[in-house]
Amino acid sequence: MTLKDTAKSLPYPLKQGLKYVYGVIPLHIHYGKVFRETYAFLQKSQWWTREQLEEYQLEQLSQLLHHAYGNVPYYRRVFDERGLKPKDIQDFTDLQMLPYLTKEIIQNNLPDLVAKNYRQSKLQYATTGGSTGIPLGLYREKGISDAKEWAFMTTQWNRVGYQFGAKCIVLRGKVVESASKGKFWEYDPVNKDLILSAYHLTEENMPKYIQKIRDFKPDFIRAYPSTITIMARFMKENDIVPFPCVKALLCGSENLYPLQRELLEAIFQCRVYSWYGHGERAVLAGECEHSNFYHIFPEYGLVELIGENGKSVTKEEAMGEIVATGLNNYVFPFIRYKTMDLGIHTSKKCECGREYPLLKRVEGRMQELIVAKDKRLITLTALIFAQHFKAHSKIKEMQLVQEEVGRVLVRIVKTNEYSVKDEQEIRQKMQKNVDNQLDITFDYVDEIPRTARGKYRFLIQKLPIELGDTE
Ligand SMILES: [Zn+2]
Repeated sequence: MTLKDTAKSLPYPLKQGLKYVYGVIPLHIHYGKVFRETYAFLQKSQWWTREQLEEYQLEQLSQLLHHAYGNVPYYRRVFDERGLKPKDIQDFTDLQMLPYLTKEIIQNNLPDLVAKNYRQSKLQYATTGGSTGIPLGLYREKGISDAKEWAFMTTQWNRVGYQFGAKCIVLRGKVVESASKGKFWEYDPVNKDLILSAYHLTEENMPKYIQKIRDFKPDFIRAYPSTITIMARFMKENDIVPFPCVKALLCGSENLYPLQRELLEAIFQCRVYSWYGHGERAVLAGECEHSNFYHIFPEYGLVELIGENGKSVTKEEAMGEIVATGLNNYVFPFIRYKTMDLGIHTSKKCECGREYPLLKRVEGRMQELIVAKDKRLITLTALIFAQHFKAHSKIKEMQLVQEEVGRVLVRIVKTNEYSVKDEQEIRQKMQKNVDNQLDITFDYVDEIPRTARGKYRFLIQKLPIELGDTE
């Protein structure tokens, strides 16, 4: 048992004590060799030419496929059934001979997706939220996956000034054990983070949160967009000045909507940096110092964007499902994994000079599309976010619910200024955007419930959504 394992099994106060011991070890040593090597590699590879990146990906892909064929029963079967060998896949087009890996396949084949050449002790079980609300189980490599992930994360945050060991406020889904006793934060001495409870952001508690942030003087705030938006609204309503020490807000794990970005940048007076990734760790893409395009890390995963006809999307601004092959998980390989997330293609180049493939936007999950009366699928951008509503400033929170084709329920937490006119405006603008192919009803509530992981969902889509025949 390592010191770290021992620490995990200790009762809480002792755990905290050991954490402080850890805290004096320089961070790059704490995170270990894998972290340092990955980080150093990314510092160079991000400036490679497109050819270098593609060559690297093909090499990594070939290695992954040979490994999967040799050690992972599910993939052995997939190759054998098609009469294929790993050497038959020489380029990205050949890869399409392999079938998609769906969430359903994972749920039904869990043991067969684990590589047999890894000892049980090397496996780390994890679950991810998943748009259906059913958690998806998977395995990562103990001690390796997290170190690599952290190297990728810090590399992308470097683009907005993040340096190793920077002081962060963390306002995400983590439950703070002392919050029930009125202490809404806990210090993590290893990462030098102050973790705030995202579940106690009431009007009454907010001044305490804000004072704590001021005293802590963080360099960055890492948050779910929805939680930091609650704080921004409170600061706006109460004319609270921002925190000058904060260089950027680092927002991931939920879609960042344009209106949220606008509000956050105005209130916090700093850059909002957004990225897209998921617990399956097959794709990671983030903004850069120059633009809001999502730069896909080619060293992390190989991404295909698949359109309605099942073909790769190549048209500028066309939408497709993100299908990803993760290059770093050998314990539980994700090959051509259907993420059920939607991205908007662009073949533009970014001014930053990185030759990474780009997504113009990430539209969120397929379950975040609305179905109109004529069965047309509508993105939330088209329905709401691409235009300005006067009513928005009078709404605390909003959520859409669809249970029937052509019909949407709008849940709203109002402010005191909200009136009937605002309801009319929302209805008219939304209906105009979909040529009146949508019936809209309103429900006024006191709060919008969060998911089990503390995330906010803008749309609860109860209809099954299929982008088309993509099998
Ligand atoms: Zn860029």
